[in-house]
Amino acid sequence: MTSSHIPVPYVLAYSGEAVRQRLTFAPDPSCGELRLSHQDPRPRSDWHRGVLLARVRTNRRGQIMWRHLNRRRQWECMTKDLCQVCKGPAADSRTGRLWWVITETGFRASSDSGGLTNAPPTCRPCIPTSLQWCPQLQKSAAVYTVAAAESAGVLADIYRPGPGGVPVFTGEHNAFVGWEEFSVLPFALATQMVVRLHDMVLVEHGADVCPALVPS
Ligand SMILES: [Zn+2]
Repeated sequence: MTSSHIPVPYVLAYSGEAVRQRLTFAPDPSCGELRLSHQDPRPRSDWHRGVLLARVRTNRRGQIMWRHLNRRRQWECMTKDLCQVCKGPAADSRTGRLWWVITETGFRASSDSGGLTNAPPTCRPCIPTSLQWCPQLQKSAAVYTVAAAESAGVLADIYRPGPGGVPVFTGEHNAFVGWEEFSVLPFALATQMVVRLHDMVLVEHGADVCPALVPS
């Protein structure tokens, strides 16, 4: 909690957690093809499903970056179904369904009741507070429950190899790269995990939701 009692969501980044990414292109040991790598590679932790992960600290030092998510905490929330605000379980204890706040900017529909997002779930008790404190959410948010969230790919910055293996940024920032895009994954630096939500059921639109969801 800050002095003004605004809860700082667990998933947010801090300025002191930023790491300068020192990148190169190097042969993939499994196939010999060039792939993006950190200059001092750590093979066991740098890659996930063929994509290079952006490095970031998790010390929560410095200024809160209200518009940025910490890559490792975002990843943790997605893979363990944890609330992005309090790090508690995001699943409803009664139904087992996951509570999810959906915004226009952080969601892309892929079917009538499913879609892609990089915003982790928000547990039911945290929803009223997060809607109350975040003007962005009040404008465009809607609250859903979903049956499941399945890892679908990443948001990434895309590079190409320049002379001597020096990575050249293509200008593609926050591009969605799916796990099946094998030709793109070796050129991507992942900054967020993207999940596909299944069987989404609308509970309420944002502005109306606070009173309805205040825990009794
Ligand atoms: Zn929570």
